[in-house]
Amino acid sequence: EYSDQLAAASRFLNENDHFLVVNHVNPDGDATGSILAMGYLLRLLGKQFTLANEGATPAKFFAATPSSLTVQNVSESPLQQKYKYVITLDCGDLARVGAVEQYFADDVQILNIDHHATNDHFGAVNVVRPLACATAEILLDLSAHNQFPMSVELASFLYMGILTDTGGFRYANTTADVMEKVAELLRIGVDPGAIADRCLETIRRSHLDLLQLVLPTLSLHRQDQIAFLSISLQAREQSQAVDEDMEQIVNYARNIEGVEVGVLFKQMDQQTVKISFRSRQDVDVSLIAKQLGGGGHARAAGCTAQGSLEEVQRLALQKIENLWGEK
Ligand code: 5GP
Ligand code: MN
Ligand code: MN
Repeated sequence: EYSDQLAAASRFLNENDHFLVVNHVNPDGDATGSILAMGYLLRLLGKQFTLANEGATPAKFFAATPSSLTVQNVSESPLQQKYKYVITLDCGDLARVGAVEQYFADDVQILNIDHHATNDHFGAVNVVRPLACATAEILLDLSAHNQFPMSVELASFLYMGILTDTGGFRYANTTADVMEKVAELLRIGVDPGAIADRCLETIRRSHLDLLQLVLPTLSLHRQDQIAFLSISLQAREQSQAVDEDMEQIVNYARNIEGVEVGVLFKQMDQQTVKISFRSRQDVDVSLIAKQLGGGGHARAAGCTAQGSLEEVQRLALQKIENLWGEK
């Protein structure tokens, strides 16, 4: 029962102190909005806490929701202690926290708050709700459950998470329920134009430079219903692209008329490729990603595979055709 899960999460927050709060590697708007919202709530409760990620959080998310909260990049500034009480946000499995896991104490107790259907309930307390459009929506429910006072700052964190994980209120997870909750956030005083501009509209020059190198890699398969795009190590170097520059590129593959599955292959090193899957309506790509050791949602999922770009592309095509049938 969802309200029991929210009650258990509330007890975890109330009864403990000195929390480490972490989201997933390459944090997106939901991961970032959620970690900032949790920091806000812990501060409200008078608790000590550290917000941390394996890498740098894209500056645009802080610019979209100005506050005094920061997320520590442990690759640049290591943490000084281990933590017994850990809160993971938007992580479908523990591996998603990356290098931050080294700061978990041996007797760690984890509060796992997430909305991925593939979540494997790795926490001592689990609030896993695949019906939620975003982890930020669960935190909104948690705030309401506890009757925490809402503010523009908190509402903006939550709005950013919901806005980005619904693709700007366009994906199938944009329910009437979501719109009603978002209306509440707007009534509090969230500035939707400013947040959308920072998170969805503004692109970096290096993103455009990378896109020019990536679009020519397009290949189509299974009667043009599967589209592949690739980012080679060389393209990354030439464009000086950073992680956030690669984020939306997979949508160009998926968005082609007639395409059901769009896939982006990002070369991480000579033998490692990160795969992003997106689908329109028929193929549950989380099943494919899960077979390859990853996970995600029916319409958006990912994993990491070993091999050259060509080898990993062949592997992915085979897995998609196995699930979907050859044509
Ligand atoms: P992206 O393709 O943007 O990296 O991720 C799309 C979705 O799949 C996100 O919901 C993300 O959490 C999930 N995802 C991506 N990579 C992995 C992975 O390696 N493991 C798991 N469990 N989920 C992933
Ligand atoms: Mn996420
Ligand atoms: Mn999410």
